[in-house]
Amino acid sequence: MRDFHQFIHGFSNFRSFYYDAENDLYDILRQGQNPHALVIACSDSRVDPAILMGCNPGDIFVVRNIANLVPHKDHAGSPDAVASALEYGVRHLKVEHVIVLGHSDCGGIHALLDPSLTAGDSYVPMWVSLAAPALQRLNQDILDEDMETQRRHCEEAAVLQSVENLLSYPWIRERVAARKLSLHAWYFDMHSMSLLAYFHEKENFEPLADHLHYRHS
Ligand SMILES: [Zn+2]
Repeated sequence: MRDFHQFIHGFSNFRSFYYDAENDLYDILRQGQNPHALVIACSDSRVDPAILMGCNPGDIFVVRNIANLVPHKDHAGSPDAVASALEYGVRHLKVEHVIVLGHSDCGGIHALLDPSLTAGDSYVPMWVSLAAPALQRLNQDILDEDMETQRRHCEEAAVLQSVENLLSYPWIRERVAARKLSLHAWYFDMHSMSLLAYFHEKENFEPLADHLHYRHS
């Protein structure tokens, strides 16, 4: 079994980085949080959004689950971890951006495409089935492609499906209509090590670095 001493050393490093006599970020954060973005990311250990995007504590309010899914309002459970985090982030913290961050090699999406991978599981198949509508978005021609390409298209489609599902919540819809909230579909490609966003006008995911003046996707 691998030990976890690195986590203890890690906290020590964190503490000395953010807390010393001249620099105490938590001097402000102890008074409350004021993140301006909410990120829905995968639980995958390789795609921590705070690390990927160089965030400091307090920058982003984060929801993580397998395959970075947002259930449609009609499919939200009772209670529901994702819906409640969205409600708190949007209605109370008043975040200005909600980012759904998908990624390459997503095991959850692989399980959706190949149910045999999680056939004996009690919870994973039901959870990833929330992304099943994403499969309907795929062009049937995709089925002729190799599995790697199919997975990529499905990972991207699931991100778009989750963004669409965000709009099923009336308090999100209202803020988007009032231009107080922007929704974003992002995708981390760990092969090319690039961060992409979906551009409606191009109907495609493209590297954000190519769109430095990017405002809305
Ligand atoms: Zn994933």
